[in-house]
Amino acid sequence: MVKIGIVGCAGRMGRMLVSEIQNSDKATLAGGTEPPGSPFVGQDAAALAGAEPAGVVIGDDAEALFDISDAVINFTAPAATVVHAALAAETGTALTVGTTGLSENDFSQLKTAAERTVIVQAANFSIGVNLLLGLTEQVAGILGDDYDIEILEMHHRHKVDAPSGTALALGEAAAAGRRVDLGSVAQRVRDGITGARASGDIGFATLRGGGVVGDHTVLFASEQERVELTHKAASRAVFAAGALRATLWTEGRANGYYTMRDILGFS
Ligand code: NAD
Repeated sequence: MVKIGIVGCAGRMGRMLVSEIQNSDKATLAGGTEPPGSPFVGQDAAALAGAEPAGVVIGDDAEALFDISDAVINFTAPAATVVHAALAAETGTALTVGTTGLSENDFSQLKTAAERTVIVQAANFSIGVNLLLGLTEQVAGILGDDYDIEILEMHHRHKVDAPSGTALALGEAAAAGRRVDLGSVAQRVRDGITGARASGDIGFATLRGGGVVGDHTVLFASEQERVELTHKAASRAVFAAGALRATLWTEGRANGYYTMRDILGFS
């Protein structure tokens, strides 16, 4: 059994991850943390997740959790994620990162930490979305600049970053298919008199509302036709299941920075 710790275990994803581990016959819950002062510290992590109480009390000492865990899963916030990556490197504990909204600097800190441990990062741990990433790269490579690429996403009203990490990853996939740098063609926001659409741009549009778990569509629009690739997540459980699968995969792996493509064998 792999002993897995969950940092941010009282969050929406944290609770899903705790119950996924409680239902797994390959993993046990090593413990969970929330920041010091959180009202969840001292509560039973499994009971909070709606499972049978497991006698695992939520703590606020991340270092202690890394010390007793074989691997840790982190779906928190960017600032907490880089702190957890440094702890993973110090303790040699594998780390699975699902946090989105990470900056270039955050990513480079994750990659530095991955020199001393195993880090798996994905903006979206669903298998369907990772298939969509592969298809987007392929279709973008086949259809030329006559087809304008637009990426549309919708998420629940609580989401704090935009465009979603998955939408940006889809943009990266489309740009890779076209052999261009996303940074130089991305149109992340349009407002007011924007002028006509530049050929080769990759546009993003963001919708927020209700309890939508995560919808993503990549559109390829020419004068004559439109191709749309769509994925809709029905439950957060899909991300938790993918993150657990990724975490179990880290066992015995060489230090390094990995993505879902490595785990699913799409690379
Ligand atoms: P949430 O706000 O419900 O949960 C985040 C939790 O992290 C909170 O409980 C918070 O207290 C805790 N936290 C923050 N700093 C901490 C620290 N230093 N130590 C311990 N705990 C800390 O958010 P959520 O909806 O669960 O999403 C979390 C992140 O995961 C977001 O970035 C979201 O976009 C991302 N996400 C990724 C995927 C994926 O598949 N990669 C899927 C869903 C959500």
